[in-house]
Amino acid sequence: MIDTHCHLTEFDVFRLPEIIQNAQQNGIQHLISVSAAFDDWAKNQIISRQYPQVSPAFGIHPKFRQNLPDDWQEILGTCLKSFPQAIVGEIGLDFYHSPNEQQKQQQMDLLRQQLHIAQEYHRPISLHCVKAHSECIALIKKHKFNCGGFIHGFSGSLNIALEWIKLGFVIGIGTVLLKTNSTLRKIFAQLPANAWVLESDAPFMLPENTPAVIQQIAHTAAQLSQQSLVSIQQQSTQNTVQFLKRCEW
Ligand SMILES: [Zn+2]
Repeated sequence: MIDTHCHLTEFDVFRLPEIIQNAQQNGIQHLISVSAAFDDWAKNQIISRQYPQVSPAFGIHPKFRQNLPDDWQEILGTCLKSFPQAIVGEIGLDFYHSPNEQQKQQQMDLLRQQLHIAQEYHRPISLHCVKAHSECIALIKKHKFNCGGFIHGFSGSLNIALEWIKLGFVIGIGTVLLKTNSTLRKIFAQLPANAWVLESDAPFMLPENTPAVIQQIAHTAAQLSQQSLVSIQQQSTQNTVQFLKRCEW
């Protein structure tokens, strides 16, 4: 399986060999380590050079948009050029804490700039979208962004999921699925079989979360969709690989 969204930069470097090995023992052969802040770009370069099973993602999360160097867009381009397998992320909009108009505008400007760079380098994105699905969808459409991506940590309705899928995105199924009362449980089985991928968002979301949690998510997904664990594992890998191939990743 592939963990399509984790933050390996957030772990103590000395723990990485154990964390990656443990992921492998749980059937996770490949990991995409996303960036949130500018400083993560250098860290993810080092990690993905050191571990062939890790691909980097470079991007600025809306919460980390302050104090960027003037030439951050050029640096992002250089990172993508040096790592042809890298995607852009995690980027997006986060309206959870009800930002004011100016803050919303800043988030949207940053997303727009990063969409532009992702499009230029033909890279899919890992999209963080909290209480802002309609704004994100409008921006993607307006910019005719056509490289697709992963809707990270999805927790919206089936209709929103289907709208994203129509735009060439796949739905990131994460630890929310483990919560017995989550709406994601209801909609998971209704998603088209090829339109979802798995993600841990480790070390966030759960205490002590690591990419190995993907195995647990796969178990739950199998139960919910009344399929075997093996078929869920295969489907999740196939969905990720097919998607990235389609994006000429
Ligand atoms: Zn994340």
